[in-house]
Amino acid sequence: APVGGPSVTTLMARRKKVLGSRPYVFYDPPLHLVRGEGVWLFDAEGRRYMDLYNNVPIVGHCNPRVADAIATQTRILNTNTRYLGEQLLDYAERLGALTGGALTACAFVNSGSEANDIAWRMARAWTGQQGALTQEFAYHGITEAIDALSPSALRNATPPVHVRTILAPDGYRGPFRHGTPDLGRRYAEDADRAIRSLAQAGLKPAAVITDSAFLTNGVLDPCPGYVAELFARVRAAGGLCIADEVQSGFGRMGQHFWGYQHHGVTPDFVTIGKPAGNGHPIGVVLTRPEILDHFIEQTAFFSTFGGNNVSCAAGIAVLDEIRDRNLVARATGTGNRFKAGLKQLADQFPLVGDVRGTGLVFGLELVLDRETRAPAPVETSRLLELMRDEGALAGSEGVHGNIVKMRPPLVFDTQDCDAALAALRRSLERL
Ligand code: PMP
Repeated sequence: APVGGPSVTTLMARRKKVLGSRPYVFYDPPLHLVRGEGVWLFDAEGRRYMDLYNNVPIVGHCNPRVADAIATQTRILNTNTRYLGEQLLDYAERLGALTGGALTACAFVNSGSEANDIAWRMARAWTGQQGALTQEFAYHGITEAIDALSPSALRNATPPVHVRTILAPDGYRGPFRHGTPDLGRRYAEDADRAIRSLAQAGLKPAAVITDSAFLTNGVLDPCPGYVAELFARVRAAGGLCIADEVQSGFGRMGQHFWGYQHHGVTPDFVTIGKPAGNGHPIGVVLTRPEILDHFIEQTAFFSTFGGNNVSCAAGIAVLDEIRDRNLVARATGTGNRFKAGLKQLADQFPLVGDVRGTGLVFGLELVLDRETRAPAPVETSRLLELMRDEGALAGSEGVHGNIVKMRPPLVFDTQDCDAALAALRRSLERL
């Protein structure tokens, strides 16, 4: 414990009283973080850790430009979207322009969950249909409607009657493996089954929702043709397509600003959250003007905090940082370097069954046996603890909890990349 500071035991006891009796914290003993800067986090004892885990601070922890924008605007004005203001319009126009002008209408909220909730409501209002398609083990948020579209959160509960889960395009562990001809189409065909099943219940799809990075499904690499074929099937049945860009947007996947661009599609909705404010809570639904108009004619949609002046100032500063520091291109370069390093580790350590990653989002699938692909969840947890000990924070993911998940800030540079690979190598050796 820091000199004079509270011990981990004291903090855990206080936490249990206010956050529930089984407080879910990472690591044993848990980390007590007190400061962040760029790719680094500092604990109460002054030890520093490289943050390979958190996908929120996309332009680095405590980014000075974002912090200044928030502080400055807080002292000038902070009110809601019922008044005219330029910041809101500047931010909305820039987001729309980033979709290539396809989705120029914005609904401002405060989190990824809310953005998905509103997109889902808009889809039902527009189509007049009630069914939903979502990938098995997907995660899209916490509202009641979106929880129903999040099989990873429902765990073993049966999804509600209007929801059909569809296969995620997992060419490593799924029913169709890499090398299968037309892999993307084979996976997308599962939507036909789901749409037929909805029809048997007297329902049609209002929407399909996809996380462009397939994070909770184990950080699946884009499977050529999959999302395009899936969207085409849903649209043929009268449904709309929601690209959940909460994780995959803002250059996370390198090369493009949005994850859906890696799939060669144009969705009807883009939902954003997490990195949009680099830690300041922002959620936005981007859609076509006619869909938004239809929705607001039918509802009294308004969010008190959504689109407030301070949030817009934060959001604009994030976009400025990404543009001016060329962070999407940087994510591509550093991402390729990191992935090449991960592949070298896989050559050396049989525990690493598969290496996946696009831009700066990575999944390392750990297996007990490369032939049977038996998952290694215990080794995954142990590896995360060892990485922490080596000064690097990562997470686990996937149905079996055997995938090491890494999403460093886009400001991650080649030096950081090499240091992270060295920490991972030492952890694998110690394991
Ligand atoms: N969609 C995806 C893909 C997410 O990963 C998350 C959060 N993990 C959400 C939506 C929900 O965002 P929030 O926690 O901001 O409500």
